[in-house]
Amino acid sequence: MFNYKTYLLFLGASLAISIGLQMILPFPYGLGAALAIFIVFPLFLRKRYMSRMRGYGNDSGTGGGFFGMGSQGGSAGVRYVCLVCNNKHKGGSCPRCGSKMQRADF
Ligand SMILES: [Zn+2]
Repeated sequence: MFNYKTYLLFLGASLAISIGLQMILPFPYGLGAALAIFIVFPLFLRKRYMSRMRGYGNDSGTGGGFFGMGSQGGSAGVRYVCLVCNNKHKGGSCPRCGSKMQRADF
């Protein structure tokens, strides 16, 4: 997802920092801190990348909808809202009341 070169750079930096921590801190603490860095760094990178993508999305006007759909849980795609009973379903007729009146819900 995010820039692989940047990831490797951060990985190398975190490796150097974790080796430094091994020298400064006693054994269990140094290892724990190193592991924390290896877990936190990629998360931090991804968070920064996602917020940057969201910024681009606002510029083009379509990114927000794309991410909104993604956060609904993958395979759902476009959902429809029944205009009669407000039930959310996957299209066609409403499974609750059978009405075909619906609008797309992004
Ligand atoms: Zn309905």
